[in-house]
Amino acid sequence: MSEPLSFFNWSLSKTLATEPDNFAKARIRIIYTILVFSVLKALIAIGFGAAAAQWLQMTRGIIALIIYLILAKVILYRPSRLMLLAHIMILTGLLVIWTNIYVYSHQINLVTLQFMFMIVLSGFYTLGSTFGIIYSLAAIVPVLLFSVLNNNPNIYITAMPQQLASPGFEIILTLNFVTIILAHYLFFKAFKSNIKEKEALNHQLQLAAEEANELAISKSNFLSTMSHELRTPLNSVIGITELLLEDKPEERQKENLEILQLSALDLLSLINNVLDFNKIDADKPKLEAIPFNLAEFIQNRCAVLKIKANDKQLDFNLSIDKRLENINIISDPTRLSQIIYNLISNAIKFTDKGSISLKLDCIEKKEQEVIVQFSVVDTGIGIHPERHEKIFELFTQAESHITRKYGGTGLGLAIVKQILSLFNSSIHLNSSPGSGSTFFFTINFATTPTMIETKPTVAETQTDFSKLKILVAEDNEVNRILVKKQMSRLNVEPVIVENGEQAYEACLSGYYDAVFMDLHMPILDGVEATKKIRALPDPVKAKTYILAFTASVTEQEKIKNCGFDDFLYKPINLNNLREKLENITANRSLAQ
Ligand code: ADP
Repeated sequence: MSEPLSFFNWSLSKTLATEPDNFAKARIRIIYTILVFSVLKALIAIGFGAAAAQWLQMTRGIIALIIYLILAKVILYRPSRLMLLAHIMILTGLLVIWTNIYVYSHQINLVTLQFMFMIVLSGFYTLGSTFGIIYSLAAIVPVLLFSVLNNNPNIYITAMPQQLASPGFEIILTLNFVTIILAHYLFFKAFKSNIKEKEALNHQLQLAAEEANELAISKSNFLSTMSHELRTPLNSVIGITELLLEDKPEERQKENLEILQLSALDLLSLINNVLDFNKIDADKPKLEAIPFNLAEFIQNRCAVLKIKANDKQLDFNLSIDKRLENINIISDPTRLSQIIYNLISNAIKFTDKGSISLKLDCIEKKEQEVIVQFSVVDTGIGIHPERHEKIFELFTQAESHITRKYGGTGLGLAIVKQILSLFNSSIHLNSSPGSGSTFFFTINFATTPTMIETKPTVAETQTDFSKLKILVAEDNEVNRILVKKQMSRLNVEPVIVENGEQAYEACLSGYYDAVFMDLHMPILDGVEATKKIRALPDPVKAKTYILAFTASVTEQEKIKNCGFDDFLYKPINLNNLREKLENITANRSLAQ
């Protein structure tokens, strides 16, 4: 902020320094220039009037001098009064035009025309288009009217009969022209410097946008590296825990293992939430279209959550509408599970006694579509109606003491809302403090008549996978051990390599029924290795069935565009692995 102007300020540059806008500066300059020239003209009128004993001219000069000096003072001291000043000056000018034509000279002379031009330009330059037009008309009309009334289409351009003694009159005429030229020049200068300023601003903006872009890219790269680093050991913990649980541990050990599994899953869900939020916002990913049995899928997903609820002595009720029992839908199971997991985890977290329920109601069932309402009901602390909208915002919790007591990041519901928008749905809430909460949403699913058999458990697997030739490319040592153990549980003895280059070489020298390829590997990553395998001259080798190992839902699109046939989520779950091996076996028998 610049300092306030002193009353005794006579410096134009000090006045201009208080105004940041270029156009406003130009306006002040124009008015000031007109005033300075007017003062000069008044002095000339006084001087030449006195010398030639033209007392009327001299008196007019003195009055004009006083008025112009006061106006100049006002503009230098209070530039914010610029508009008012402009109106006063223009009105004075109009008075000169009207009186010149109709009172003094009864003709149109050069000075009148000069005033007319000055009014037109000061109207537009200082007061804008509306006043510009109004004042222009007010200045032009008397001139036109006079020529029409006098029945004379030619306008006489003469000097006034009682003109100021020469050369005073000629000097004033010249000064008027100089004023007109100067005003145009000043406004044009402001216009040009404004354009230059805009260009410089644009350039700065462009630089800032580029910088922000680079920052966003490095943030996203950082997040994906971090996600990989965090998920890799976590996936091993989850996988090994599953293997241990499969080994029929003692009851006491089983409980500990379940706690270990739950905590690892919670941590994984948190990492996924953090990373997903960034990705969903930036990429607006498409949902997967996978056929699956809805009721069965929900039952499976709830198994872990039920254990979690029971650990807190809470009842867990799952009720699925009878009409949904044998329905196969085409949807995105991973995203659906993320919604359910986040909502039920919250319900468990914010409930100290009572129960948690998940209800699936069939709202409408058509031939190829089913509308399902999901409700997650708890008997927990509830949420004040005032906070109902807020809690769906990023990093927002109902009350600050909640963070202290229950922890949490304020991400879960924001993610739920975001994912539901991918399903063209939205979440609703019924809740008040002390009377529990009900979160509900409705999704329209496309249905498919294809009957999908109920999956047998790993133990029930009958397909013999022992003949399958599988290649696994995985750089992380722990993951290699884990996947080897998981595969050997299903009677598969894979060939294991450590990077994409080795995977490519293995494919070059032998035939495989399938390659399980990690995406992030040193030397040659999964995507590049797949491209190289696809380019092999042997058509059978080039068409090798390749699955990507992925830890992120958001990588699906990329995987599809990079020549992979399928993908398998980490942490690898034995049932999913078995399913993929079934597909590979089916593919193999088709090929033979
Ligand atoms: P977080 O649970 O990590 O804090 P969420 O986005 O999942 O973040 O939830 C935001 C807030 O909404 C929570 O902090 C809590 O105040 C409130 N909330 C969510 N679910 C429930 C629930 N079932 N009962 C009571 N309050 C809830």
